[in-house]
Amino acid sequence: MLPAQQAEDLILSLVKPLDAQQDSEMVNLLAASGRILAEAVTSQLDFPHWDNSAMDGYAVRFADVKTCSAESPAELQVIEEIPAGYMPQKTVQAGQAARILTGSMMPTGADTVVIQEVTKREGDRLSIFSAPQPQEFVRHRAAFYKAGTPLMPTGLTLSAPEIAVLAAAQCTQVKVYRRPRVAILSTGSELVEPDQPLQPGQIVDSNQYALAALVAQSGAEPILLGIVPDQPEELKGAIAHAISTADLVLSSGGVSVGDYDYVDRILADLGAQIHIRAVAVRPGKPLTVATFQRNENSAPDVFPILYFGLPGNPVSALVSFWRFVQPALRKLSGHPNGWQPLFVEGRSLHPLKSDGKRESYIWGQLHLVNGTYEFHLAGGSHSSGNLINLAQTNALAVVPVGQKLISVGEPIQIMQVAPLR
Ligand code: AMP
Ligand code: MG
Repeated sequence: MLPAQQAEDLILSLVKPLDAQQDSEMVNLLAASGRILAEAVTSQLDFPHWDNSAMDGYAVRFADVKTCSAESPAELQVIEEIPAGYMPQKTVQAGQAARILTGSMMPTGADTVVIQEVTKREGDRLSIFSAPQPQEFVRHRAAFYKAGTPLMPTGLTLSAPEIAVLAAAQCTQVKVYRRPRVAILSTGSELVEPDQPLQPGQIVDSNQYALAALVAQSGAEPILLGIVPDQPEELKGAIAHAISTADLVLSSGGVSVGDYDYVDRILADLGAQIHIRAVAVRPGKPLTVATFQRNENSAPDVFPILYFGLPGNPVSALVSFWRFVQPALRKLSGHPNGWQPLFVEGRSLHPLKSDGKRESYIWGQLHLVNGTYEFHLAGGSHSSGNLINLAQTNALAVVPVGQKLISVGEPIQIMQVAPLR
């Protein structure tokens, strides 16, 4: 039974990221939110695109206004109005100025903008009562970005700020990693779909739904393969199909030591290399992690197919996903770092109990109160057979091996699994 941290390290060492060349696609910027750049982006546009004004005021020649003051204002002639979007037609000569608005292009001849608050205008006569700094309020072409230099690196996840920058740079098509394909199957002869009538003894396959949601939230593409009964031949066929269609396979159920737990044996039959069979965590002890080479002739740098046999218990399946599958999926997807789960230090508002033998993950809600993370234990039973009080979980408090009780207020590690509410 591997300790959790060792299992995480081993799993991450097994994952090879998607290939930036082969496993990428061009997407339109409007569809790029949440995707990961598979290629560094360079723009052919300077930013700003041309010298422009940072304020509403007048474009002038600094030499004309450098000594002016309230007592001896500079007197200039306004030769042109330059609203945003208009290309100046005239050159500002000595003794002249142009009316300019924020974002408007600077006219040739002018090098400085005087804000309108220190001026007085009558017709085309302009008085300026305060001397500006040289080049004041001019945003120079390429001051923020020079065409041809790196704009964004490979591996960057695109969200609103990056998409704004790419739009401004007129990069409307971007090369991103394709979404990893994740096959999901549920094993168990007792399982039925949520829309089927329940016969006595049957159990609804909630794992398929939970895992599909988690996979989609991770930016990957879930491939739902449904329920497979505990029959070795059928299960073998289903797993063989799963590994032929996906980059990563998630099955739930059938990995403990019961009479109908066939998954590990079938994986071995199919030629998998099994790396992990159990992890010292609670819930979620039975966890099978295996790899399949793509085919016998795969080049060594072609990433293997990863197989996670998760415990069937719905709580255990979720905890195993958050703790072990999610980091693997992040690395596979092309994130250059930040694969590990997010642990924060906080305090529990309730006593937390464990058997002291395995690292325990206890579900509840995490709040940030006056700068301190507070953990609220989910109400109701914490039996791994209970799934009902999982709703609203956004964090798992960790009770380390060797500790049976964490008292109220004691510092603890808390794994955040969803945004704070
Ligand atoms: P197993 O790991 O196959 O021994 O399953 C452990 C427990 O989880 C059993 O009570 C199963 O009925 C239940 N279970 C297994 N698979 C699922 C599933 N897909 N959805 C909900 N419960 C499940
Ligand atoms: Mg089962």
